[in-house]
Amino acid sequence: MDVLVIGAGFAGACAALMLRERLGATVTVLERDATPGGMLKTYATEDGLPYEYGPRVVSVFRGTPDVLPFMRRYVTLEERDIYQGTRLRPDYPIIPFPVDAASLARLPCGDDIRKQVDAIRARRAPPGERDLRDYLETSVGPLLTELAFAGFNRKFWGRRLEDMPATWGKLRRLERIAETGHYRLPSEAPHYYPVGGFNPLFAGMLDGIDVRYGVSVERIEPAARTTRVTTAAGTFDADLVITTAPIDALLDFRFGKLEWRGYRIERDIVAADSRERLGRAPDGIPFAWIYTPWPETPVCRTTDFGVIHHGAADVAQRGPSVLLREIVDDRVPMYPVWWEDERFQRYLEAVTAIPAVIPLGRLGLYKYTTTDSTYGMARRLVDSLDAYLAGDPARRLDILRAVRGDWGN
Ligand SMILES: Cc1cc2nc3c(=O)[nH]c(=O)nc-3n(C[C@H](O)[C@H](O)[C@H](O)COP(=O)(O)OP(=O)(O)OC[C@H]3O[C@@H](n4cnc5c(N)ncnc54)[C@H](O)[C@@H]3O)c2cc1C
Repeated sequence: MDVLVIGAGFAGACAALMLRERLGATVTVLERDATPGGMLKTYATEDGLPYEYGPRVVSVFRGTPDVLPFMRRYVTLEERDIYQGTRLRPDYPIIPFPVDAASLARLPCGDDIRKQVDAIRARRAPPGERDLRDYLETSVGPLLTELAFAGFNRKFWGRRLEDMPATWGKLRRLERIAETGHYRLPSEAPHYYPVGGFNPLFAGMLDGIDVRYGVSVERIEPAARTTRVTTAAGTFDADLVITTAPIDALLDFRFGKLEWRGYRIERDIVAADSRERLGRAPDGIPFAWIYTPWPETPVCRTTDFGVIHHGAADVAQRGPSVLLREIVDDRVPMYPVWWEDERFQRYLEAVTAIPAVIPLGRLGLYKYTTTDSTYGMARRLVDSLDAYLAGDPARRLDILRAVRGDWGN
C-alpha cells in the first residue's frame, strides 16, 4: 500500500513509522516546514541556547504509558522536577500552582480565601455544573475564582467564565487549586526531557522514510483509482492519505473556520545569577514556569528553560538560559476551543465520506492533545485501519471518533 502522510509532526511521524513497521506500507511524508517536529521541536538562540515553543517535557499526562518506551527507542529520557508557580496579582508573591494552603496564607487576601474554601468544604456538596463560574465558585470560592481564573480565561480563551462549560473545570480538575500540599505539575507521573532536545527523536523516527520538506499541501481529492494530493511542488498519488494538517483547510472551510487560541513568544536570555527570577517552591525546587492570570498583562506564562534543560540542582552553575514569555495571539493555532465543536463534527462526517483520506493529530482531529495522547491516537488509527478501510461511512465515523478519543486519552 502506498501511503502519503501530510505533516511530519509527532502524529505524522508516529503514523508513518507504524504504517511502515506494522503494515509494510511504502510511506512518503509531505511537510510544509524545512524540518520535522511540528510543535514538538527544540530551537536554539544565536548562541546555541535551547528552548521549546510547544512541549517542554513529556509525561504520561493522559493515560498512554507506552509512549515512553516508544520514545526511548530513539532518545534517552531524563527525569525532571517540574514545579509551576503563579503570581495571582502583579503585587503578590509567586506561589506554587496548583496553590497550597500555606502559600495562600501569605497573600494579602489569604484569610478570606481560606474562609471561603473552608465554608465550601463544610457544605460537602458537589461542585455546581451550570457553567465554569458556578463550578469554580462552588469548589474554590469566589475570590480564588476571580484571582486565578476569571482574568486568565477572558484573556486567553476570550470567554467569560459564564460562557464556558463546567466540564472544562471538571476535566482539568481545576478545583485542585484549593487542595493542600499538591503543587507539582498536574500529573503525579514523572516528567521527562530528552537528552539533546526533541529533534533527535524525529531523526530516529523518520530514518529511512521518504520525507519531502518545504512541501505544503493545498488540496486532496479522489482520482481514478487513487487519491491525489496537490502541492505547489506538483501532485502526488497514493492509495491512502493520512493528514495531520487542519481539517477545515483540507475541506476548503466549507463549514467555516474552526476556532483556535494561541500564543506568540518573546525571548530573553538570562544570566545564571538572575535565575531566581521565577522563584522557588517551598521545598526549594525552582519554578520551571509561572502563570500570570491577571487581565492587565497579555503574558500568560513565563518559562525558565534553564530549569527544564539542566534539571533543578545548582542552576547558578549552569550558565545563561532562555526565559520565554507566551503572549496571547490567536493567529497561532495551538489550542482548539473544543467545547464549541459542533462545526468540527460536521467536518468529521464530511471526511468519513471519503474512504482513503484520514485526518489525525491535534490539527486534523481538532483535539487538545499531549504528546502521549497524540501517540495514542496514531496507534489506535493503525490498529483499526483495516476495519476503517473496509467500513461504510457510518462505521468510519465511529472508528474515527474512537481514534480521536476523549480527554483521558
Ligand atoms: C504551547 C503548547 C505547549 C504544549 N506543551 C506540551 C507539553 O508540555 N507536554 C505534552 O505532552 N504536550 C504538549 N503540547 C501538545 C503537543 O505539542 C502535541 O500533542 C503534539 O506535538 C501534536 O503533534 P501533531 O503532529 O498532531 O501536530 P503538529 O506538531 O502541529 O504537527 C503538524 C505538522 O503538519 C505540518 N503541516 C500543517 N499543514 C500542512 C500542510 N498543508 N502541508 C504540509 N504540512 C503541513 C506542520 O508544519 C507540522 O509540522 C503542547 C502544545 C502546545 C501548542
